[in-house]
Amino acid sequence: MELLGVIGNPISHSLSPVMHNSAFQAIKKTAVYVPMLVQEDNLSQAIQGAKALGFTGINVTVPFKEKVIPFLTQMTDDARIVGSVNTILFQGQEIIGHTTDGAGFQQAMEMEVGINPVGKSFLVLGAGGAARAIAHQLSKQDCQVYLTNRTLDRAQRLASDLEATAIKKPIVIANQQQELAKAVQECQVIINTTSVGMEATKDQSPFPLDLLTQEHQVIDIIYNPAETLLLKTARELGCTVQNGVGMLVWQAVKAWEFWWGITPPVDVMYQALKNSLASQE
Ligand code: NAP
Repeated sequence: MELLGVIGNPISHSLSPVMHNSAFQAIKKTAVYVPMLVQEDNLSQAIQGAKALGFTGINVTVPFKEKVIPFLTQMTDDARIVGSVNTILFQGQEIIGHTTDGAGFQQAMEMEVGINPVGKSFLVLGAGGAARAIAHQLSKQDCQVYLTNRTLDRAQRLASDLEATAIKKPIVIANQQQELAKAVQECQVIINTTSVGMEATKDQSPFPLDLLTQEHQVIDIIYNPAETLLLKTARELGCTVQNGVGMLVWQAVKAWEFWWGITPPVDVMYQALKNSLASQE
């Protein structure tokens, strides 16, 4: 029996176990995926413990995606540039860190709403961990990324971190109506990576809604609620919209590819996730 799991704090809300275990059952893979609550002081022991117990790999979630880095022996280029790890592979004595958030985001965007980034312009709202992964993923390709954030310094730091690998240097814009209005005219796709729109802020939008036009494609990586105020407004206006469910599924798919080089039954993962989310409503 192969062992896998996810470390985080809190962890009981994580939807990863149900996604992975449903996929294991569907293909009769002898593996189990468990949620593991870890205290920050025990992070090193938790990783060493998983290695000693023979885990194949683990996922890492909030608040440890950056904090695990000192305990790794290797990192993929993507993880190093983004500065975040959501997937670890134990291989002999090696503890290898990787991030699948950016690739998962792109795959979901291509599969669900048919967006190929090449030649497009994207406005990324936010500059936290998810924004870093998404902006890196996009800017590796021939497209223009605009970045804005409540804390502008953070967006500027992200743009400068991406300079070496970006085909087109990301452009930082102030989070103000006039600046946003100009950027929005240039961009076909608007991506919310901030936490604005989640339960505590469900009546708020991360972006002035009057700037949206029917031509925009709008992606909100929040998956609970399934439709944020931003997405609802965009949908009613006639925009193509996508929520965060696909990114959550596809980052898990990319983790399988990293652990075993195989693709799981994606439809099973989608269904397991949708059932879990529906039961939480
Ligand atoms: P994070 O690193 O904590 O970043 C949070 C971002 O939200 C920052 O840009 C922050 O701005 C901004 N923000 C927070 N409160 C705000 C407010 N009241 N007004 C304006 N901006 C605000 O978090 P993260 O890990 O990137 O996650 C962000 C969101 O993405 C969460 O909703 C999370 O659930 C979602 N997510 C989804 C997936 C998926 O697979 N679908 C994966 C990862 C994350 P400042 O820099 O100014 O604080």
